[in-house]
Amino acid sequence: MTVRVRFAPSPTGMFHVGSARSALHNWVVAKQSGGTFVLRIEDTDASRNHPRWVDGIVRAMEWLGIDGDGYEGPYFQSSYAGEHTKAAQQLFDAGKAYYCDCTRETLEQRTGNKYGGYDGFCRDRGLGPGDGHALRFRTPDEGVTIVKDLVRGEPTFENNLIEDFVIARGDGSAVFLLANVVDDITMEITQVIRAEEHLPNTPKQQMLWEALGHTPPVWAHVPIIVNEKRQKLSKRRDKVALEMYRDEGFLAEAMRNYLMLLGWAPAGDREIVPWSVVEEEFSLADVNPSPAFFDVKKLTAFNGEYIRALPVEQFIERCRPWLTGPFVDAEEKGETGFGITPPPWAPEAYDPAVFAAVAELAQTRIALLAEIVSYVDFFFLDAPVVDEAAWAKADLTLLPDVIAAYSEVDWNAEALKESLLAVGEQRGLKLGKAQAPVRVAVTGRSVGLPLFESLEVLGRERTLDRLRAAVARA
Ligand code: GLU
Repeated sequence: MTVRVRFAPSPTGMFHVGSARSALHNWVVAKQSGGTFVLRIEDTDASRNHPRWVDGIVRAMEWLGIDGDGYEGPYFQSSYAGEHTKAAQQLFDAGKAYYCDCTRETLEQRTGNKYGGYDGFCRDRGLGPGDGHALRFRTPDEGVTIVKDLVRGEPTFENNLIEDFVIARGDGSAVFLLANVVDDITMEITQVIRAEEHLPNTPKQQMLWEALGHTPPVWAHVPIIVNEKRQKLSKRRDKVALEMYRDEGFLAEAMRNYLMLLGWAPAGDREIVPWSVVEEEFSLADVNPSPAFFDVKKLTAFNGEYIRALPVEQFIERCRPWLTGPFVDAEEKGETGFGITPPPWAPEAYDPAVFAAVAELAQTRIALLAEIVSYVDFFFLDAPVVDEAAWAKADLTLLPDVIAAYSEVDWNAEALKESLLAVGEQRGLKLGKAQAPVRVAVTGRSVGLPLFESLEVLGRERTLDRLRAAVARA
């Protein structure tokens, strides 16, 4: 049987890193089997959907590399409403579902239990469709439902503990449980790989598959993702938006690799592996069902390694969005909250040749691409951004001598270093101490790129101007 998997996000907000992981799991399984990955946007909750979130999903797929051969979609759940209604009718006609006019209040009055499940009151009342009549699925009173789950074995559910659940609302529209199953049937899905949160829905959905006359798919419920306090990753508490990581300059390949390690590892001691190894070795059967810790520090370290491994020309290319845009200004950000903020220099001041000259030096020092801006801004600003704390600590009394020496010296990194060494020695200063005030005066900061190479690129005139400005400022 050809494998068909699907990723079925609801476009109700930013793209959660957990969703990214589910998408990748589905993608790997599709690729491994030469099967198909279907993107289905579950947009039936009109009050919570927004086109910008649909756009966010599509862009996230592209960014993660889910594209090309084996990719199908996006399909929109809302365009299958006719199929949903047909399925609801089929279940009613077969006596597998019945209409119910109970409200929360009447149910509570009868059972005296505010939180209890449905008591089956309308099961045999023979109600037909009507205003405010919900359609409920008639669940079996006995027996068990066994879910075949590639990650969890065979979770088993007692049927008598599953209430007669609603499958269509009073207005006739299908609820998630039914719409999701009908779409999976229509799209001939063979494996449902999704987050653990949906495990409680699964026995109900499996009953629907069977009641509609189809063999249920194989399921796989991948573990929840938690923060360092072992709390489920939440958008109120944690940084969960894939867009935010992208804007900070996490590389898609580092992110993909890291997300796959949540609950799984390749053979041997390896963690950083090319995607081809993931495709060769990943197996849902090897995924650990316990909660997986999303360790941002580890992800950041990973990213640094991925950045350092890039050929320098690619590094230059990958930094480009932070240096030359496209940018999103504060007003536009209000809309989505995402996008790259413009750097502090005027666009015409940016010089790609200057960046290319120092790129290799920056590449070994940053862990996020967005950090590149603070490493190179002093080249493109008239006066450097001033880090007040660094400035307060710097002893600038050395600078007049440096100005004198640097007015004459040959302008190359080696000569600049020798010259500063000599100036420092006259005052008993080691090179590190002598460098500090020069670095602050020229770059505005106490840490950054190697100093002498930076000065060589910045040029004599601009360097001297900054040293003089610092003396005047002191
Ligand atoms: N729209 C559901 C969600 O985003 C899909 C669940 C599923 O994969 O079946 O949680």
